[in-house]
Amino acid sequence: MTASTVWLDGTLVDTSAAAPSHLANGLHYGTGVFEGIRSYATADGPRIFRLAEHMARFAKGAAHLGMDVDIDGMSAACAEVLRANDLGDAYIRPLSWFDGGGLGLDMRVLTARHMVAAMPWSTHLGDDTKARGVTLRTSSWRRTPSTSVPALKLCGNYVNSVIARREALLAGYDEALFVDDRGFVVEGSAENVFMVRDGRVTAVQHADALPGITRDTVRELTGATSRPVTAAELAEADEIFLVGTSVEVTGVARLDERDLGVGPVTREVAALYDAVVRGQHDAGHAWLAAA
Ligand code: PMP
Repeated sequence: MTASTVWLDGTLVDTSAAAPSHLANGLHYGTGVFEGIRSYATADGPRIFRLAEHMARFAKGAAHLGMDVDIDGMSAACAEVLRANDLGDAYIRPLSWFDGGGLGLDMRVLTARHMVAAMPWSTHLGDDTKARGVTLRTSSWRRTPSTSVPALKLCGNYVNSVIARREALLAGYDEALFVDDRGFVVEGSAENVFMVRDGRVTAVQHADALPGITRDTVRELTGATSRPVTAAELAEADEIFLVGTSVEVTGVARLDERDLGVGPVTREVAALYDAVVRGQHDAGHAWLAAA
């Protein structure tokens, strides 16, 4: 379900009035940048988690496209759409894209459009996945190397995630795991990866993975080491979990042919993350912006 009011180029409008042009450059070539941000209904009212970090990453993506964005204005718009749609637990989607005016590849002649939408929260991997964990399948596809497209939230690059996730879903799994040509783990289609071995928590590090804000949060909360991890090492982990704005901390109950179940460390980290984002833990207060 999508909320009915969206922020478009500086004003709040009804969603039905916000249809993009069929000749928008962004529609044809994915020349856009987006973010995925969570807000939470806390005891103090709606709060947006790590808004500044999300918008800083958005700005980096926009810079690669040569697109001007008003980061302060779009940050304020995140709160505006929450209020306009009376949302607390929500998913916020800022998106900037190049509009019509030419189907060439020179963006300097085009203008950008800017939108912020908010929708009631749900996790993209399914609502029961927190309890039972997800099944993860090693993809036959490679993640786009960051030497080809920067590891940021640039629209067109998500075709890579879509085809990998589609392959996993058709094989009966919930999610895809990208592994590189040298056997190193990269990330999921929209999540970073952690593993637990002998009680030690490790954040998988890879140049082609999105620098995730949830990954950074979980590292700070757990003191997890960040280092490259091979697929062979991951296959022997005691526990594996995925992290991301949408999935938060979600256990991997199965990796390819191996059943792991959702382990105790994963459950502990998930509960800690939940308390932090909901303002129930001191560690999180500086990360929560009023909406
Ligand atoms: N990797 C990819 C490819 C993603 O799309 C996401 C979701 N934004 C993540 C990792 C997790 O990043 P974050 O924690 O910042 O949401």
